Amino acid sequence: MPADKKSSFVIVYHRQPYEEAVEQGRTVFRENKSPNGIVPALKGFFSSATDAVWVAWKQAPADGKVNFERTVRIKDSYGEYDVVRLPLTAEQVKAFYHVTSKEALWPILHSFPGLFNYGPADWENFREVNRLFAEAACEQAADDALIWVHDYNLWLVPLFVRQIKPHARIAFFHHTPFPAPDVFNVLPWREEIMQSLLSCDVVGFHIPRYGENFAAVASSLMGAERGEALPAESPFEPTGVALAEPMVTTALRYQGREVNIDVCPIGANPGLIDRHLNTDKARKRVSEIEREIGDRRLFMSVGRVDYVKGTKEMLSAFGRLLERRPELREKVKLFCVCVAPAEGMSAYRGAQREVERLVGAINGKYGNLSWTPIMLSTRGVPFEDLVCYYRAADICLVTPLRDGLNLVAKEFVACQADDPGVLVLSEFAGAAVELPDAVLVNPYSERRLDAALDRALDMSESERRERASAMIGRVRRWDVDHWARHVRERFEAITPTDDTLSKTAA
Ligand code: UDP
Repeated sequence: MPADKKSSFVIVYHRQPYEEAVEQGRTVFRENKSPNGIVPALKGFFSSATDAVWVAWKQAPADGKVNFERTVRIKDSYGEYDVVRLPLTAEQVKAFYHVTSKEALWPILHSFPGLFNYGPADWENFREVNRLFAEAACEQAADDALIWVHDYNLWLVPLFVRQIKPHARIAFFHHTPFPAPDVFNVLPWREEIMQSLLSCDVVGFHIPRYGENFAAVASSLMGAERGEALPAESPFEPTGVALAEPMVTTALRYQGREVNIDVCPIGANPGLIDRHLNTDKARKRVSEIEREIGDRRLFMSVGRVDYVKGTKEMLSAFGRLLERRPELREKVKLFCVCVAPAEGMSAYRGAQREVERLVGAINGKYGNLSWTPIMLSTRGVPFEDLVCYYRAADICLVTPLRDGLNLVAKEFVACQADDPGVLVLSEFAGAAVELPDAVLVNPYSERRLDAALDRALDMSESERRERASAMIGRVRRWDVDHWARHVRERFEAITPTDDTLSKTAA
């Protein structure tokens, strides 16, 4: 895009939307190996925009200047767009991302106030990095541009943007849960965070509960006035499960401006999954996995190392299963993908050690030369391979203690065909309010976890089919394209901002 031309659409997300590599001494930008997940979903928005910009961070070289290209032009299957890379020093990344975001904010977002680590949090640095993101976005944006900010580590960006560009349309999307006021209020920076979020035109969440929690903090802490509340509609269960919420507040009024609350969960990409699974390569791979497993029942669990994912509780339940039902020994196997965190993520170190210890203990106690009960992979499995495992698996265990949504649950469902597997799903994953036909479980209760595993193992074929068919229908209908269409409509409905807030903020 010419330097003097301003963009009408800017995405602000901490990760870059491609993989950067050096080939024969030249830097090349490749599309992400993983075709699924949030980055491709966001890049999909670029297909209809010719002047779009993505703002992310990139670690600055230690010498501070050489070879740092701040803006790169990317041309890929999604379109042509500029990526602005905000240079952050290694210390800034550590303080902003590894410490303040992961040790202070993450436990609060996921309702683990006991793990909130205030001591090392560096709020000055967090604010400064957020300000830099906002400035980078505003440098690129037209005055009335739509600036779409993603996730809690950029919580302070909206207010900085509003101060620089009062007429911009600002949207924010939370990929994580938003906690109830009594947990959120543990954050000593709560007013500053809310002041920023309340300068948006739209604040988006996956499910009604998170939107309601946000509305509750906005009204009780900031005195925002609640607008109309409407009954929660499909795909959401309105009552009866842990994260169900019967009503959805649609807007808030704060300091003379309207802040819309939007609730729509990101979907899986069943079209992409079908394309993968319908290749000869995938069919061969599924048969290969089935051959390797033989007449054993295959359990799957897929996620990152993170205490919120409940891997420790899930592994313990699998260990108890082998203890409680000795006839299942050698007849079941768990493939546990638990991807190790990036270097420097001390917040997850204990969780990783615990997962490795438990797998070792269970394999040591029950395994023998020809049977290892749990196969653990701390490396990520490429998506094309993962879908083959999903197709071959009998039971998928998605049992986080808390999770914003959980795409794995939806992807597993999308992979099921004639002889479908069973999804065991935590009630504390956002996806649970969309998938009431899963075997829903409270992962805080050992007894409930044990019962859910038994239920999944002993389920009749007709019940498996019935549940799978209901879930497949939902996952296919509320897919990633549905989410994108919904978000686009919401953006189109944003009316230009008056300058009330810019006066208040000044
Ligand atoms: N994933 C993958 N390979 C792996 C582990 C995960 O491709 O080895 C993908 C998975 O299919 C899903 C995403 O990473 O699309 C994880 O999203 P989810 O919402 O389940 O969890 P998050 O990591 O965002 O908390």
